[in-house]
This record gives sequence, structure tokens and C-alpha cells, in this order.
Amino acid sequence: TRLLRSEEGKEPPKTPGGDTIFGKIIRKEIKADVVYEDDLCLAFRDVSPQAPTHILMIPKNPVDRLANLTPQHKDIMGHLMVKASEVAKKENLDGGYRLVINDGKDGCQSVYHLHIHIIGGRKLSWPPG
Ligand code: IMP
Repeated sequence: TRLLRSEEGKEPPKTPGGDTIFGKIIRKEIKADVVYEDDLCLAFRDVSPQAPTHILMIPKNPVDRLANLTPQHKDIMGHLMVKASEVAKKENLDGGYRLVINDGKDGCQSVYHLHIHIIGGRKLSWPPG
């Protein structure tokens, strides 16, 4: 179904900047379990959690992937990191947690609207697969 993620990343879209399922979540066209929202960003629970806490933090103004960031994204990326840290605090991830950005096919990115995974609530292993 639509909500199942494949283990492998998808090929990047040929025309970057296109709408994704996260655009529909921002526009409230499909439901999400939102844990934080402001003018610039949205955080919601991942539909296929890989840990007791698994939240996605996204910019409302989409950029497709980390590889396509430019200096104009400095402020929003800083905002996302600070808000991710606040969300983690609110989720009581006092023992620690991990922020992850998957980029491109080899990075296992499947949704081409940049997002930060906030993963915690259990002891994580290292290195990632
Ligand atoms: P990526 O592999 O880093 O691109 O991560 C995409 C994430 O989005 C995966 O962890 C998916 O489980 C998650 N995801 C996909 N569709 C939805 C949805 O509709 N709601 C919430 N999370 C989603």
C-alpha cells in the first residue's frame, strides 16, 4: 500500500521540487499525528516507526533533498534542528536520541521533501545499516 516504505531508496525525481505526500500532510489533505507546528515547520509521527519515538520534522517550504541545499536554506535548517531538539525534550528522550537525514538513493531517501528523522526511546545501534 501507499504507506509501506520499501527498504531501498527511490530514484530521485527527474524534476525536483515536485509535490509529495508530505505536501498533502502540510495542507491537511491527509491526516498526520502532528506533535509540533509553526509557520516554518511541521513535526508528525512516522507512519512506520523504527523506534518507540519516531517523528519527522519537515520544512513547510519544500526542498527535495539535502544535496540541493543552498546558502538560502541556512536559517530554515537551523530552525529545524532547534525545533527537533525541543520536540525530543518534550518526548522525554532524556537518555539520548538520533537525528537522521537520508539523502538520495544510496542514503535510502524515499520521500523527496527533505525531512529530519527524530528517533529514540530505545538504545540505538551504530553504525547504521
Ligand atoms: P526516508 O526514507 O528518509 O525518505 O523517510 C521517509 C519516511 O516517511 C519513512 O520513514 C516513512 O515511514 C515515512 N512516511 C511515508 N509516508 C508517510 C505518511 O503518510 N505519514 C507519516 N510518515 C510517512
